[in-house]
Amino acid sequence: MIPPGSTIGIVGGGQLGRMLSVAAAQLGYKTHIYDPHEYSCADDVAAYRTRAAFESVEAIQRFGESVDVATYEFENLPAEALKALGEKLRPGVRSLEIAQDRAQEKEFIEKCGGRVAPWRAVATLGDVEETIAQLRIPLVLKTRRYGYDGKGQAWIRSAGEAEAAWRAIGEEPAIAEAGVDFLAEFSVVIARWADGRHALWDSPENEHGEGILRRSTVPCSDSVTPLVAEARKAAIGIAEALGHIGVLTVEFFASRDGPLVNEIAPRVHNSGHWTIEGAVTSQFEQHIRAICDLPPGPTDLVGSGAVMDNLIGDEVDRWPELVAEPGLHVHIYGKGAARPGRKMGHVTRVKL
Ligand code: AMP
Repeated sequence: MIPPGSTIGIVGGGQLGRMLSVAAAQLGYKTHIYDPHEYSCADDVAAYRTRAAFESVEAIQRFGESVDVATYEFENLPAEALKALGEKLRPGVRSLEIAQDRAQEKEFIEKCGGRVAPWRAVATLGDVEETIAQLRIPLVLKTRRYGYDGKGQAWIRSAGEAEAAWRAIGEEPAIAEAGVDFLAEFSVVIARWADGRHALWDSPENEHGEGILRRSTVPCSDSVTPLVAEARKAAIGIAEALGHIGVLTVEFFASRDGPLVNEIAPRVHNSGHWTIEGAVTSQFEQHIRAICDLPPGPTDLVGSGAVMDNLIGDEVDRWPELVAEPGLHVHIYGKGAARPGRKMGHVTRVKL
């Protein structure tokens, strides 16, 4: 066990790093944020910080020497550099490598027994056109790397749109994936310990707008509930096969044929924010428990459910009205400018 008083390194200083730091502090740990920006919103609540490039092996190595265990709060990081953290890095580099390449990720999910929408790897416009012939339209092109919140994606709804979509994603190696006519979207948030123990929360149903999560609701609706058992089995299989330590999130489409994995995030996730007030142990505390090898906390609901709404862009300007709502749990991330599409905070309503 890594005892309270130790220092946890967190690579990435966004809101996930911030909420991990708060959970770590509650258990008596200090955190050290590693981020290239001059200011990151996790700095406000962390004891130490390093400002350096993610690619700098030397700086990562020094950071590794100054912490007792290290973790990451987003997956678009250079795996090669993070290898310098060796055994201290939890989850390990493998979880990162699989999650950051959509083609590898899909192959891996299928190997673990998860089902995915029909897809092909594409490297040229010719490949895209061939895939249109093989799979049905609509298709969505997604860059293999560095896509998030719907970025690096373009839809093809008619054969004539292929070239424009290929250009829109920057003519980069990508996957072409069949559009899923889903009933709903949901996720499985799982925490795994080094010895294979794991903990699962109730699955939230997730609503997106323009590729960005807007709302997560627990419990999920009747169209999702019958699919959760198979989805959990897939998530456990993925976490096991990765040898993952900490929280892992698997996003699903609830299709008429059952749960289809959309993508995995090797970390705490926006669709798990409701657990801060809505579950006995939050995803953030559980991640800290797992990487420090403390016992798992219970994941039961504290009430009958919860609804989490993101505050995106200037929605955060509604804060005076939000903080005046009795019982509403308001989280403001303390980021700078409220750019459109930027996650600025969230609110959770717990149903008692
Ligand atoms: P992603 O970045 O892959 O999570 O995609 C963001 C959102 O776009 C998803 O949560 C869905 O709402 C939508 N989306 C992505 N891929 C598909 C698909 N194959 N079929 C239908 N909707 C999709």
